[in-house]
Amino acid sequence: MNKSLREMEAVIKTYSLSHTILCLHMSFNRLSRLIPSPETFIDLLLFHGITLIVPAHRYGNQVHDVHQLKILQNGNDDQPEYMNNPQPYSGDMDPEEISPLMGIVARRIAKRGTSHIGFHPENAFAGIGPAAEKIIKTQTPWNVYAPYDILMEDTQARIVLIDVDLSKATPIHYAEMKAGRNPFIRWYKDSTNQVKPMRVGGCSDGFEQCRPYLKDLESVCQTGLSTWRIYPFQAFINRMSDLIGDFPEITRCDKPMCPRCRDSIAGGPYFSFFSISSHLLKGDHSFCERGKVMGIKSSK
Ligand SMILES: [Zn+2]
Repeated sequence: MNKSLREMEAVIKTYSLSHTILCLHMSFNRLSRLIPSPETFIDLLLFHGITLIVPAHRYGNQVHDVHQLKILQNGNDDQPEYMNNPQPYSGDMDPEEISPLMGIVARRIAKRGTSHIGFHPENAFAGIGPAAEKIIKTQTPWNVYAPYDILMEDTQARIVLIDVDLSKATPIHYAEMKAGRNPFIRWYKDSTNQVKPMRVGGCSDGFEQCRPYLKDLESVCQTGLSTWRIYPFQAFINRMSDLIGDFPEITRCDKPMCPRCRDSIAGGPYFSFFSISSHLLKGDHSFCERGKVMGIKSSK
């Protein structure tokens, strides 16, 4: 075992990471100079009984907005061109379609035969390890962050950022929900070509500004050339949710006209549940039941 792997083992031991669930967000660039491959890295964590939850987002499955529903404050001033040629989504995903922005480790995890990928056309999570299945199977297009509900009940779960900052920490979108922000609503075609709603994350470019408020929760360590930041999941979400509630502007990115920051800071989309359920979800309320949706405000 080379020196970097031994250092990683020391981190696992020092921070008691064995047999825990880790939400991992990372860049492999620096580690790649010292560790033979992403597989070596993944295998070492799995060897210690760790469950890894990573983002396996891909893009290009949206169809155009359904205007008659009058969903306001939805962060979608501009509509990308790829929406002209949507692919139906049946739950199957080719891991090759996962965005390179997720990093090579997340993509390699999703490709493994023993991994699980969540049911979401764009913002799926992938998981591998002992607890992965029960966490990942909770995800639906509407309840995009349901996997984090399970982590909130696990006092040992952590968020680990390796050579990336808080702008890559997807759990902050969950904290935004906890703080009362509605996630943005987008649309996709299911396997029967019906248009269905899904909820997705907003702009995360300003999230690193929250770091000073997390210092007492943060452990920072170096292994090889890489820098790891480790946070306890529960405390991180509670702190971020309080912070966003008290100081919503803290998450605003530096793009003055960013429509997603503008609308999410204002509380995110609001709409009539009746309108969505009666127009689009006839006979299929499994992921959009009345009363189960967080933070709905009445339509205007
Ligand atoms: Zn923004």
